[in-house]
Amino acid sequence: MSLPLIFGPYGASAVAVVHMLRRAGANALWFHGFDPEAFDACEKHGVAACVEFPTFRADFRARPELVPIGVDGRPIRYGRLVQGVCLSQHAFLAEIEAALLTGLDAFRPIGIWLDYLTYGGWFEVPDPDLQESCFCPACVAEFCESTGIDADRPGQILAEHADVWRRHKCERIAGYAMHCAKLIRAVNPNCVIGAYMCPWLPDEFDEALTRIFAQDYDLLAPAVDVFTPLIYARKSGRSADWGQAVLEASGGFLPAGRKLQPILDVLDFPESLEAVAVASPPPWGLQVFGGAETFRDADSIAIFSRCVERIRAALAGA
Ligand SMILES: [Zn+2]
Repeated sequence: MSLPLIFGPYGASAVAVVHMLRRAGANALWFHGFDPEAFDACEKHGVAACVEFPTFRADFRARPELVPIGVDGRPIRYGRLVQGVCLSQHAFLAEIEAALLTGLDAFRPIGIWLDYLTYGGWFEVPDPDLQESCFCPACVAEFCESTGIDADRPGQILAEHADVWRRHKCERIAGYAMHCAKLIRAVNPNCVIGAYMCPWLPDEFDEALTRIFAQDYDLLAPAVDVFTPLIYARKSGRSADWGQAVLEASGGFLPAGRKLQPILDVLDFPESLEAVAVASPPPWGLQVFGGAETFRDADSIAIFSRCVERIRAALAGA
């Protein structure tokens, strides 16, 4: 399967500017869920429709049983924004699967990006509150059963079996990604499968990418065509060239044959886009979170268009 090279905004607000995308060099629109209105708009304007499909995210106040359990045996700390759920909550997993199947039945998106495919926490901040999870009895039992390790206390697991515990978590996340990928490919074999990623390099925050969020690029690779790190520089307390730096480090972590397509934040426009546009290797397309504003203003359109042309030229010459 040849992967389409796609550029464009993310967000429902961009539906209103869908007629402006082509002239800015954009050819795709990413939106939340299987949104009929967004599919219609894309179809009408010849733009690739891409779905952001939420997996492990829920309103914990309404669904307290989904909150992962921390090392102290209590629900993890969380604020207004949090992702990840206890993966032993099978009824919730069945709900996600049903939503995916319903969407696949009704629509033919160009791509589906799996979102929140992580263990518990939140990484779009400068000072993340990183907590190990989930140590509920069912998740610990699942760990012991699948690894043959006999340990029941969180402290013991982390002290004596930390590497196996980490690997087990990464395999659970990757296994779920593969489960979704099989469902998607069975119905829509040419659908691009993307995954939104914690944007940290594998060694940052004491290897929190795998240790806390359980996102292992190599384990995810069989399920995922395009990896999309969330490059929200200002929110994360990083400089505007962060996306460029991640791309330039990607040789160290991106599996062979897979693509890196960052999502930038419109709050970082245009500096972040301009930095990514000169990165080597170049990105395989890109998304702009909340990017609708970019397509309303002539100067922004010109910048976006110029950056897309530069990336296309770099990829053609690569
Ligand atoms: Zn659990």
